[in-house]
Amino acid sequence: MKSHAQVVVIGGGVVGVSVLYHLTKAGWKDVVLIERSELTSGSTWHAAGGCHTLNNDPQVAKLQSYTIDLYKEIEEISGQETGFHLTGGVFLAATPERLELLKVMQSQEKLLGIETELLTPKEAENILPLINPNEFLGALYTPMHGHLSPSDVTHAYAKAARVQGAEIYLRNRVTELNQTPEGGWSITTEQGTIVADHVVNAGGLWAREVGRMVGLELPVLAMEHMYLITEDMPEVEEINRTTGKEVLHIVDPDGELYLRQERKGMLMGTYEKACVPWAPKETPWEFGHELLAEDIDRIAPSLEVGFRHFPAFEHTGIKQIINGPFTFAPDGNPLIGPVRGLKNYWCACGVMAGFSQGGGVGLALANWITEGDPGFDVWGMDVSRYGDWTTMAYTNAKVRENYSRRFQVRFPNEELPAARPLRTTPIYEKQKALNAVFGVSFGMEQALWYAPADMTPVENVTFLRSNAFEPIKNECQNVRTNVGLVDISSFAKYEITGPGAESWLDMLLANRLPKVGRLCLTPMLNHNGKLIGDFTVGKLADERFFIFGSGAAEQYHMRWFEENLPNDDSVSLQSHGMNLLGLSIAGPRSRELLSRLINEDASDSTLRFLDFQSLDLGMIPTLTGRISFTGDLGYEFWVRSEFHGQLWDDIMTKGADLGIRPFGSRAMRSLSLEKSFGSWATEYRPIYGPYAARLDRFVNLEKGAFIGRESAAEEKANGPEKTLVTFSVSAKQCDVMGNEPIYKDNKIIGYVTSGGYAHYADRSIALGYVPTHYATEFSPDGFEIEIMGDRCPASINADVLFDPDASHMRS
Ligand SMILES: Cc1cc2nc3c(=O)[nH]c(=O)nc-3n(C[C@H](O)[C@H](O)[C@H](O)COP(=O)(O)OP(=O)(O)OC[C@H]3O[C@@H](n4cnc5c(N)ncnc54)[C@H](O)[C@@H]3O)c2cc1C
Repeated sequence: MKSHAQVVVIGGGVVGVSVLYHLTKAGWKDVVLIERSELTSGSTWHAAGGCHTLNNDPQVAKLQSYTIDLYKEIEEISGQETGFHLTGGVFLAATPERLELLKVMQSQEKLLGIETELLTPKEAENILPLINPNEFLGALYTPMHGHLSPSDVTHAYAKAARVQGAEIYLRNRVTELNQTPEGGWSITTEQGTIVADHVVNAGGLWAREVGRMVGLELPVLAMEHMYLITEDMPEVEEINRTTGKEVLHIVDPDGELYLRQERKGMLMGTYEKACVPWAPKETPWEFGHELLAEDIDRIAPSLEVGFRHFPAFEHTGIKQIINGPFTFAPDGNPLIGPVRGLKNYWCACGVMAGFSQGGGVGLALANWITEGDPGFDVWGMDVSRYGDWTTMAYTNAKVRENYSRRFQVRFPNEELPAARPLRTTPIYEKQKALNAVFGVSFGMEQALWYAPADMTPVENVTFLRSNAFEPIKNECQNVRTNVGLVDISSFAKYEITGPGAESWLDMLLANRLPKVGRLCLTPMLNHNGKLIGDFTVGKLADERFFIFGSGAAEQYHMRWFEENLPNDDSVSLQSHGMNLLGLSIAGPRSRELLSRLINEDASDSTLRFLDFQSLDLGMIPTLTGRISFTGDLGYEFWVRSEFHGQLWDDIMTKGADLGIRPFGSRAMRSLSLEKSFGSWATEYRPIYGPYAARLDRFVNLEKGAFIGRESAAEEKANGPEKTLVTFSVSAKQCDVMGNEPIYKDNKIIGYVTSGGYAHYADRSIALGYVPTHYATEFSPDGFEIEIMGDRCPASINADVLFDPDASHMRS
């Protein structure tokens, strides 16, 4: 084994070899893969080999589409067949909700340029005679569905990587990892030590163990998974004979089944409800090319449905049952990217659909290692989307939930129950007593809306407007006419201090920093001038700043901050997490309420718009900022956690005769839509620049150097290709959920990033990016947005819907 490499990839499953191949494709030749046993010795060898492009996140779907296109490329370079058959596939619907979901899926495929077809049960039977059409309500045909040979694909990647310069060492377990003083890694293996600039954890079933080598507890868990292979079936041979083709790939989510042809029979797999984790605490190193004991009783309920849905199975024998483990993250998406605090340690773990996603994961990670940026928006897969609260028990509960719901319809307003409550604020019980309906944000319980006293605080899960519609409308109305109180604790809060704080932040952020006692809004850009954060920054004193940002991106932002910290001690950085909590009041009567809380005049001369100061509200010390994401007159109060409950009580008591009512995050989003405010991970993401996102007024190119300045200046000079706009949509019973196609003259010109119902303006709203030349086309109903298969007329709003001259906020 050589003694040094640019990158060492640990693990020769389909993901590790894909990372290796993509590193060589990016031009890095001095790269090595180390495998404990033979290639495919984890979950890869016994996979069913199915692959497709469908994913709820269009960015992940794009990478899946890339993966499928890649198989031809690696076959050509390696000379090794992958066994890839693009058979096409059918998603079946046995319930009305599923049929609705197929329409959503159809829209998503359109975004990838893939034309699919919605079929009646009879039409589905014509192309797939194995089904009993009486059991189904419809189907979606998609051409981008196929299967392959897992082992051949892995070897094709490996050979292609070798052809391009990589080396692979087999039967050589990595036993220890130590950071070198230069920031690389010393990798101890059974065959000796190798030093690398970067190390990649592609340990699959052993990802946790490879994480633990550096003190990292990754939120991954393996689950047992079973599929069966039938004896030869005359029905299959008949289809092959009459069509000249293989049987289509089948996903029957209501039966919790997937099926494909295997030789002259069929392969049928199931994600059973009574699922079982495997090796929940530690994966044994000696686990090899072994299968787990089959448990036919566990999958019997799915098989019974299978017999009904596919009658030919009733008289077909089972040749073999495969039971093998593979890993999942709590939300079922991969965990990729650099790990906060571990220089040059990269993850490519938790890839549960290695044959649909492995190529995209390899490409994104190789870009990230070689270029410093994944080149796509990989937020949905970024390892930083989890925090230190994802303990083993949390992961266990969420992974089991995710597995057992794998094929279940997930409604856009649905909050999943497992592992909750976990992180709560001191006002949780008070909100509960007020009939709050909770959701979860970065593990924290957050009031979504408050049910009236005579309503059970449970939201109907639906694609349509739910029972929350009227209560949220009332909450919005009360903010706009009286005053509302909302918990804002789920924001991330960072404190930056020290003699170097100002110059460091100035380099990091795109706007000019505020003066002492003031706030500013600012984007944060990466080196390519794309959005990686949108923050409120407050300067409390010389050398003391606070940043407020998206709570879900706390680890993501801390990773970036820490990577960019100066090497001296001139800057101290702290994330306050749940130690600093927040409440906000908003609405025309909020000033009167504030003056009661501070026992003095709260007029504009005391606290101007965008002021930020230490302020005692009675006995409670706060940091108070005059700002509100409702777009109304409003204030944000930040307090140490021990004051949160008392502050809530004081506000509710003193605001009683002003008509104060609590409101939840749903009303907050509805109100902010009326101001066309975007959010992290939907509108603000690393595929858009600040000018495309209409954050121009928060970028100051004149202030001097900052990260991303040159690219931002270029974006400004050339004008962005796409621009964020707000549509009013003639929606009927349901509003956009995100990712719907936007049409102009029957052509898709963009997709919806987010939206919903703007209750005070009484309109259905959608935000999305369109080619810039359309952004000023305000003709009524000049566009269409496809919601659940219906093309709804839509118009771009020429101005924000609430308070266009910002007089309320500034009053
Ligand atoms: C029954 C079943 C059916 C499936 N069907 C499908 C399907 O149809 N389609 C699909 O896309 N996916 C399917 N999967 C999932 C698929 O198998 C996984 O997504 C994929 O194999 C993950 O690959 P990986 O490289 O991340 O991990 P693994 O395949 O687990 O590879 C990890 C490798 O790392 C090595 N390693 C670990 N630690 C060390 C160390 N310390 N030193 C050196 N080497 C180390 C291991 O030996 C192993 O070879 C299925 C899985 C199962 C179990």
